[in-house]
Amino acid sequence: MKIAVVGTGYVGLVTGTCFAETGNDVTCVDIDQQKVDKLRAGEITIYEPGLDEIFLRNLKEERLKFTTSLEEGIKGAKIIFLALPTPPGENGSADLKYILGVADDLGKIMQDYAVVVDKSTVPVGTADKVREAISRNCSVDFDVVSNPEFLREGVAVDDFMKPDRIVIGVENERAKKIMSELYAPFLRSGNPIIYMDLRSAELTKYAANSFLATKITFMNEIAQLCERMGADVDMVRLGIGTDERIGKKFLFPGIGIGGSCFPKDIYALVTSASEYDYNFKILNAVMKVNQVQRLHLVAKMKKYFNEGLAGKHFALWGLSFKPNTDDIREAPSLYMIDALLEAGASICAFDPEAMPNAKNYYGSKIAFAESQYEALHNADALIIATEWNEFRAPDFQKIQNRLKSKVIFDGRNLFENSAMTQLGFHYESIGRSPVN
Ligand code: NAD
Repeated sequence: MKIAVVGTGYVGLVTGTCFAETGNDVTCVDIDQQKVDKLRAGEITIYEPGLDEIFLRNLKEERLKFTTSLEEGIKGAKIIFLALPTPPGENGSADLKYILGVADDLGKIMQDYAVVVDKSTVPVGTADKVREAISRNCSVDFDVVSNPEFLREGVAVDDFMKPDRIVIGVENERAKKIMSELYAPFLRSGNPIIYMDLRSAELTKYAANSFLATKITFMNEIAQLCERMGADVDMVRLGIGTDERIGKKFLFPGIGIGGSCFPKDIYALVTSASEYDYNFKILNAVMKVNQVQRLHLVAKMKKYFNEGLAGKHFALWGLSFKPNTDDIREAPSLYMIDALLEAGASICAFDPEAMPNAKNYYGSKIAFAESQYEALHNADALIIATEWNEFRAPDFQKIQNRLKSKVIFDGRNLFENSAMTQLGFHYESIGRSPVN
């Protein structure tokens, strides 16, 4: 089947590549000329484990093409995916300018019937707006479908190729048949396509992200209690996670929820709810708790250094919002870096994949190291912001030799308190007693 994917970022590139892998003829469209040039030349533009190999294979087989021309990209396409940004607008609601701008352009250039699919995370009612925008100038028949994406960065290829479920909001049999043909190869392990109306599909994505963000935030509050009550959050986590009704996943406390989706999607749902005259009280609380949690480690550092962070120098391990991605959007590390710089501290950071993005963002405001151990040189403490595997079992002798003093602030609870006691570090983590 001929498919167009408009927007070639984290979602668009994975979507386009995985659909090409199942034999479709895919053209990805992006307005960023540099990105398109790189992709055409076989250079992948995001770090996503496993994506390289299928990207290169499908590029070579010419099932995967890239262009900056929307007209060229959609020519002959039976399905047109919109994988465009939906950042927070002025009032917190998702800004639909990218989606509706492209929808408007599509109306002017579509020559044949196509299914236009919202893959971006969009507020309830967006499909109607997309239909309106296309209809204004369109002379051919088309359908609008909502197909929210549930992939997780870091395991996006697996999530896309073997999804738990595919949600499709659709209004007629013709579009439903086309979508079911497209997705048939992805359902071989028996996981379902859940068909529903457009509005329910749009809300499903926000409900999923908000629920998961609430689950983590709940554990962050339990962690706050543990610190005050002398309990150990990791024990509590194991104790509750074994209950099937609760489940083991998404119970890890840390330094707040981040990434390009959770914070903006909660904010957008709270705003949409208020537009429908509903105060989404739980999510308002989640946002407030998260603001505090992001800076919880910095608060611990201030206490340890008696408020005197000015002139201190810190090593920071991890910049991406989670491991196995180079994405730093809304990463907790950024909030910590900003607070530390404002307090007059300096930072040398290391991240296995996210340093190019962080360099673009910070320029020379912070230093970057070639390795995790180089970052430690002469630092007053090590801060851990992302749980990359290579940080989990480090050489503590090397850490000790390079740091000015044996102090670690760990936002991801990577080490056991008992081990840190034995090694003689001052070690502070989340929801557990400090080791002195
Ligand atoms: P992204 O910023 O990585 O990619 C968006 C791409 O669209 C960029 O490459 C940009 O240059 C391009 N673009 C902007 N305007 C364009 C236009 N007029 N024509 C063509 N291309 C244009 O964003 P993303 O992370 O891929 O997210 C896209 C959507 O998917 C968002 O709504 C997001 O909430 C949702 N989503 C993201 C994830 C994720 O993990 N990143 C997961 C599920 C859903």
